[in-house]
Amino acid sequence: MERGGPETRVPGEKRTGKMKPPGDGVHLVDVAPTVARVLGLEMEDPDGTALEQVEDWGCSRAVILIVDALGCGLYRLLRPGLCNLPRMAGQGLMFGAAPASGHTTPAIASILTGLLPRSHGVYRTSDASRSGIKSVLEMAHEKGLRSAVVMEQQGAEAFQGRIDIIRGVPGSLGPLEFDRRICRSSLEALALEPRILASHFTAIDRFCHSGPANMISPAARAVDAHIGRIAGALRADTMLIICGDHPPHAGPLRVDEGPVLLMLWRKDSSP
Ligand SMILES: [Zn+2]
Repeated sequence: MERGGPETRVPGEKRTGKMKPPGDGVHLVDVAPTVARVLGLEMEDPDGTALEQVEDWGCSRAVILIVDALGCGLYRLLRPGLCNLPRMAGQGLMFGAAPASGHTTPAIASILTGLLPRSHGVYRTSDASRSGIKSVLEMAHEKGLRSAVVMEQQGAEAFQGRIDIIRGVPGSLGPLEFDRRICRSSLEALALEPRILASHFTAIDRFCHSGPANMISPAARAVDAHIGRIAGALRADTMLIICGDHPPHAGPLRVDEGPVLLMLWRKDSSP
């Protein structure tokens, strides 16, 4: 697999540990380098850059909650019905981040590796287990840091033998029940005190794809409640990252481009 990179890259330039100053555009590939800094891990040559804004937060753990299809436009639409996300946005940081792909699998691989799709080459779930590219979860595991993932069964199985805690949820469940199980399994994983957890909620995206569209809002309220429960269970030194993977790419709210929500919040920033 050929290892590409952004056009702006200087050949041979080592970007490990560099930070993105406030004001620069934020990209979803910045998530993994930011988490790597929190965990004290060296990423070899990420396409993204750690966000400087969280440098003094003093966190040593990270939880990444990926909310499928949570574009910024959709978030603005849903926000009046939400409780936890708007509150946490006020306490932490919120960005409109550029997504790495319009498709779920490569987009999530970019969030977890800090690499653009042309660099990680993961376009289908089956690519993930074959890929020699390591996500920040696997990097953490290799350094002896307990690392956990909670996602749809097949995606979770790609991490088999590569991280410490794997909780797969059957994709055959209905959208709302699936997200409930993602929340429950995330809470179970957090009880094992991982240094890094990544979980993936999909109900909003599934209602965007298959309808009924009037379920998108209830699905968002449910995810908001799940996130509130997970935030409540975090240790105080945890950085919580909530992000979309791509804007809605199906249904009446479809947009093919545009930023996705990226929120960073730490437990002890709450009053
Ligand atoms: Zn998606």
